[in-house]
Amino acid sequence: MKSYNLNQLARIINGTLIGKGDEIINQIFFDSRMIINPIHGIFFAFHGNQKDGHHYLQDAYQKGIRNFVVEKAPTNFVDANFIEVKNPLNALQVWAKYHRKQFTFPVIGITGSNGKTIVKEWLNQLLWKKFSIVRSPKSYNSQFGAALSILQMEDKNDLGIFEAGISMPNEMQNLEEIIQPTIGVLTKIGEAHLENFENQEEIIFEKLKLFTHVDKLVYNIENEKLHQIILEDEHLSKIDKITYGYTDFATVKINQILSNQTNTQISILHNQEEFTYTIPFIDDASIKNSLICLTTLISLNIDYKLFKEEFNQLLPIEMRLEIKEAINNSILINDTFNSDLNSLKIGLNVLNQQPKEKKSLVLTDILQSNLSDEELYQQTADLVNPYHFDEIVLIGEKISQFKHLFQSYVRSYNSTEEFLEQFKHQNVDNEAILLKGSRPFKLEKISNELETRSNDSVLEINLQYLIENINVYRSLLKPTTKLMCMVKANSYGTGSFEVANMLQNNGIDFLGVAIADEGKELREAGITVPIIVMNPEQSSYSTLIDYQLEPEIYSLRVLKLFIQKLQEKQISTAYPIHLKMETGMNRLGFHEDDFDELIAILKNNSQVEVRSIFTHLATADMPEEADYVNYQLNRFDKSYATISEALDIKPIKHALNSPGIVAYSDRQYDMVRLGIGMYGYSEYTDFMQKYLKPVVRFKTVISQISEIEIGETVSYGRRFTAEKHTKIATLPVGYADGIRRSLGYGKGKVGINGQLATITGTICMDMMMVDVTDIPCKEGDEVTIFGDSPTIADVTKWLETIPYEVLTSVSHRIKRVYYKE
Ligand SMILES: *Cc1c(COP(=O)(O)O)cnc(C)c1O
Repeated sequence: MKSYNLNQLARIINGTLIGKGDEIINQIFFDSRMIINPIHGIFFAFHGNQKDGHHYLQDAYQKGIRNFVVEKAPTNFVDANFIEVKNPLNALQVWAKYHRKQFTFPVIGITGSNGKTIVKEWLNQLLWKKFSIVRSPKSYNSQFGAALSILQMEDKNDLGIFEAGISMPNEMQNLEEIIQPTIGVLTKIGEAHLENFENQEEIIFEKLKLFTHVDKLVYNIENEKLHQIILEDEHLSKIDKITYGYTDFATVKINQILSNQTNTQISILHNQEEFTYTIPFIDDASIKNSLICLTTLISLNIDYKLFKEEFNQLLPIEMRLEIKEAINNSILINDTFNSDLNSLKIGLNVLNQQPKEKKSLVLTDILQSNLSDEELYQQTADLVNPYHFDEIVLIGEKISQFKHLFQSYVRSYNSTEEFLEQFKHQNVDNEAILLKGSRPFKLEKISNELETRSNDSVLEINLQYLIENINVYRSLLKPTTKLMCMVKANSYGTGSFEVANMLQNNGIDFLGVAIADEGKELREAGITVPIIVMNPEQSSYSTLIDYQLEPEIYSLRVLKLFIQKLQEKQISTAYPIHLKMETGMNRLGFHEDDFDELIAILKNNSQVEVRSIFTHLATADMPEEADYVNYQLNRFDKSYATISEALDIKPIKHALNSPGIVAYSDRQYDMVRLGIGMYGYSEYTDFMQKYLKPVVRFKTVISQISEIEIGETVSYGRRFTAEKHTKIATLPVGYADGIRRSLGYGKGKVGINGQLATITGTICMDMMMVDVTDIPCKEGDEVTIFGDSPTIADVTKWLETIPYEVLTSVSHRIKRVYYKE
């Protein structure tokens, strides 16, 4: 990043500088946990819905940051410099807008509902030899991501490619002011995020605002509504429109598209000349994206005919970074998105959030950089060294030559195969491993060695969606309301550690587990936030205390036993406990006639401290039972008042679960307990459902396809007989994997290539069969058991149960894989 000094920055963002103005800055931080190398860094204290960066100034300072952009400067920092502004996020954007104006080279602004990142990355794959490109890292395309992306522009660059993404009306104008594109590229306009817009036209109008000042616009002329709106637009009607499509009016006219098993040949007509190119993809989206890229080359006055080979070698973009359990109690972070310094930085940050003492890095040659090798690997080493890896493995002939720059125990190999020849499983031990490399090195061979279980049947957990769902719930809460997240039953079946770690990293206040062993497991994996055990068994009190887990205390008997245990273990400080009130669930809890004795025990008791008082609703998800909720909450109010007044304490008061947060947010008290909602499910509250994203997807692959004739039968008991020529796909999952047998005999369905296939015959222990007669598919194709289609809600309906049961039933032998975008 280009350097600024604090005087300049204060002037640009119209802030008040307190401190020295000649300090140089060239690194931006906004999350104090991400600070590894503070040199020339500045910390922006953003004030979000729940989190306030001002609470982390001390942490940032301790990590070496001396420059801050804040709303109000604290007075107790020695030797630190502050710029005070009204709104630090705005200030960052103002800085980006100013920075953008320093450059006159072409800037491509890409927007659309799908394909932004792929088109951006493909343009980079096509053009990196020809230009010094600056582009958005990963999918940084929000109000904030776009600003950070733009601030990376440097003098040496000569082409910018940036994404702009919107989710709400009226966001695009600001993105336009930040990115200031000179060439506009519009990818597919779909239904994504439609929920926040009136209709598709409104989306188009909003997206087109990115192009208010472009000289040229690239788009698909086949979208008639879009084309019409562009022709009627004051500015866009006048500029150079470069389009593709089947009509004669398109700049690039599609002549023919021919796909075989692996490639697609695309013939186009442009300026009366025919041109044919091939891409190594056969899906419709890739074909369209390649046409967008080709059309964009025309907008840059580049002779696309010279790029045949580059098109032929386009690589798929792995959008997601995977976090997986690895052998010997290790964690594997697999990030093969692409190999450039920016995405390496993101991978390093994710690794750094894994609470493992030992950290290792596997890094390959970095392709697609037009720095000299010396410069490139010096910068790589400068980025990597502050993380103090215990071990680094370098793979590739180039990077190996720069082994001496890396300050760790370093081994180097010319190829992945050479590394695997000497690789020994027993040398991996309780560590976090980042695999970061470019495609040609086939690091998946290493990840296959490191993963614990096979990959065919997987429960995928999208941690990004988890956080987005939490933020949807947070938007219903007051900024001061605390958040407890329920991770009992292995986080509703999704696997406890990764989910808990993500929650911890996102600043939730408490975790809730069912039994002490679940809490113990989290503590052993490095989770440090307060954990409440909802159902502490008497035999587990010792574990509970040893691992600083906080018990739910629901009766006088339990209270006395727990105090006795504290005495036995000679715990001298007041131990936090949580009192559960019975108000109408009739499960666990103190009744009103317990209160006198409860108060007597707790009065002047120095062994326990009542940290919270709570209750649980029986009918929060049933609108017709609102009266009962009110009855419960009123009874709870009284109980809380009685106890807190008698003891003269004000513990945290909480009652609401996920549906409660939606329906009774006026009774959120001091804290809420979020469970099923964060996994993306809201059953009785349709209007919430559309804001939530499915966190969990259960997928497998087709093992075999067989064709059977009329009269032939399928599976045990011959419960399915073919009535016509039928194509049957066998899947490698069965009731031992958590697929209930009652989904068989035509009741349930699975998703294959966008269609639903009916489960035929009896579901076996480890296998099941589905009817794919009318579904184009082949052996090895992916199958969705539940996820986006069918959804958990569909399976819930077929089984006549609740989503909680569907989620928690997936067997432990199905591997959990975590994704972050
Ligand atoms: C499981 C649980 C919750 C969360 O319930 P959801 O309906 O999943 O949101 C809240 N409180 C208690 C006491 C629980 O046991």
